[in-house]
Amino acid sequence: MSVNKSRNRACYRVFAYRARRCARENFSSSGRDAFPVSVSSSRFSRFASTFESSREAANSLFALLFPDLCRVCNQPLESFTAVPVCDACLRSIRPYEGLECGRCGLFLEGPAPLHGSALCGLCRRGAFVFDEARSFGRYEGVLQAVIQRFKYDGFRPLARPLAAALLAAMRRLQPKAWDGIVPVPLHRNRQRERGFNQAALLAARFSRLCGIPMEPEDCVRVRDTRPQTGLRATQRRNNVAGAFHVPVPQRVQRRRLLLVDDVLTTGATVNACAQALLEAGAEGVWVVTLARAHPARADVL
Ligand SMILES: [Zn+2]
Ligand SMILES: [Zn+2]
Repeated sequence: MSVNKSRNRACYRVFAYRARRCARENFSSSGRDAFPVSVSSSRFSRFASTFESSREAANSLFALLFPDLCRVCNQPLESFTAVPVCDACLRSIRPYEGLECGRCGLFLEGPAPLHGSALCGLCRRGAFVFDEARSFGRYEGVLQAVIQRFKYDGFRPLARPLAAALLAAMRRLQPKAWDGIVPVPLHRNRQRERGFNQAALLAARFSRLCGIPMEPEDCVRVRDTRPQTGLRATQRRNNVAGAFHVPVPQRVQRRRLLLVDDVLTTGATVNACAQALLEAGAEGVWVVTLARAHPARADVL
């Protein structure tokens, strides 16, 4: 009896693992929003197809039978979903609502100026070539954890909720009719190591939300730069200087482009990328990122 019980438990575990993996792979490749019910000709497919009439009930039952944990707070997920973070964690991610630099979007302390928009010291000195940048929230807490699960642990379905955050950041830019979305490119060596470019996944989802076409080929990274992590502001600028190239300048000429990345720290990377696009003839480059890390933390991020 106990042997049977433990065998059943082992079967359930394998079954649940295969089902989750199947769902994630299917989600990643097809970009579907919800758990796909008819997936393949496996045993799981036969099991799931009996619940086609009520996907929600099937998801809840599945979550009950094979509880999975939120990758941020470690509480059981209440419904089966390819997004491995619970609703409570996702709802807790709030946008930054304080004062920000009118140009680069740096989160500022203190009261708003009586006239005009606030500008940070770097923008007053004309440090950036892009038109404006905005970030959804601070790189801390749940937002930081979700970005890390997405970027380093490869949970690609997180691109969906994160793209909604990009949309909110875009709405804080001066309204414009943008012509295309350009993800900050990874060098092909880094992309091969990681298996994907997180900025491109975000940009693809974001493009579907806002209806602006994505132009992933417009800018490429031609130098395999060392990671910016651990570098200070000047080192970061030197590290990415000349790292980007626009292979077909005609594609960007006289176009207003939205550059997308996950985290903005000193702005060195997006600035170098914007410079390449502007030198190739783009009319302007605006930047949206999920999170803003304090430049003082540049040496540890
Ligand atoms: Zn959670
Ligand atoms: Zn600024």
